[in-house]
Amino acid sequence: PRLANQIAAGEVVERPASVLKELVENAIDAGSSRIDIELEAGGSKLIRVRDNGGGIDHDDLGLALSRHATSKIGTLDDLEGVATLGFRGEALAAISAVARLELFSNTSEEHSDGWRAVAEGREMTPRVSPAPHPRGTTVTVRDLFFNTPARRKFQRTEKTEFGHAEEAFRRLALSHHAIDLTLRHNRKVVHQLAAGGDQLAMEKRIGRLLGRGFLDNALHVDVEAGGLHLWGWVGLPTHTRAQADQQYFFVNGRAIRDRLVAHAVRQAYRDVLFHGRHPVFVLYLELDTHSVDVNVHPTKHEVRFRDSRLVHDFLFSSLHRALADVRP
Ligand code: ADP
Ligand code: MG
Repeated sequence: PRLANQIAAGEVVERPASVLKELVENAIDAGSSRIDIELEAGGSKLIRVRDNGGGIDHDDLGLALSRHATSKIGTLDDLEGVATLGFRGEALAAISAVARLELFSNTSEEHSDGWRAVAEGREMTPRVSPAPHPRGTTVTVRDLFFNTPARRKFQRTEKTEFGHAEEAFRRLALSHHAIDLTLRHNRKVVHQLAAGGDQLAMEKRIGRLLGRGFLDNALHVDVEAGGLHLWGWVGLPTHTRAQADQQYFFVNGRAIRDRLVAHAVRQAYRDVLFHGRHPVFVLYLELDTHSVDVNVHPTKHEVRFRDSRLVHDFLFSSLHRALADVRP
């Protein structure tokens, strides 16, 4: 099982950014309204995620750290329509196989009697002891890849690793507007984002994460048809400050990379007039969870649409119409 966990770790844990993503997704799934993230040395020395969610019961702590143990999926039907970000039950096990993991948790709002569990590299069963903690969970991951020198060698500079981690943070922050989020690096606050669900609050958050320039010339889109809902912001071509890499697409709250989606957006842009321009966008697609399969790859960056033609045409026509309306 040790080896299996390390192999799984190879797929789930590529670098500090992947640890950040998995831990924050768990905090989101736990219903947190506030999540604080702390990194040291680009995350290779320390990654700490603190949340105020539901916590983990003492009796489930050991299970939470073992492979293929998830509390989120009960039946095959659940797997067909996954609503949580996690469901494979391998992230914590994979991380603890290649780092020193410490976890504090408490499920009670009434008292602060929580639990502490430690698991690192070689040992399979975590050591659990009582420890005070407010309702919620704090996971600390130290010395990533300390026991896998080959992986450690693939890590880049602190700056590069932090860049990837910040990008993972951006994607999570852009898809969970209702959560207070902070990101600290080497004890300095890099992002502090207040929760807010209305358009103004969302635009404020986007401005903070992507720069004011992104919104200065963006078009707000909101189209609903046949069970599909597309909304968000698309940068217009006069927008010279746009960076080519500002392309964010979320399906049911999950950041994804998808060729079909990229193609539909590019087509719409090209068709209208924005020739040679890189489309920039923050777009959200919502559809029935049974119409999309997220269990394609362990990192869940990829999805498979049940009716990909329909999704492609909906994206293309929605964006095409919206962009054509503002054609200068
Ligand atoms: P998954 O998210 O796919 O279920 P993980 O390995 O990421 O698998 O987590 C294992 C289990 O540990 C989760 O199913 C959940 O029950 C519990 N867990 C992990 N992190 C948290 C958290 N921050 N708050 C509450 N429960 C958590
Ligand atoms: Mg998870």
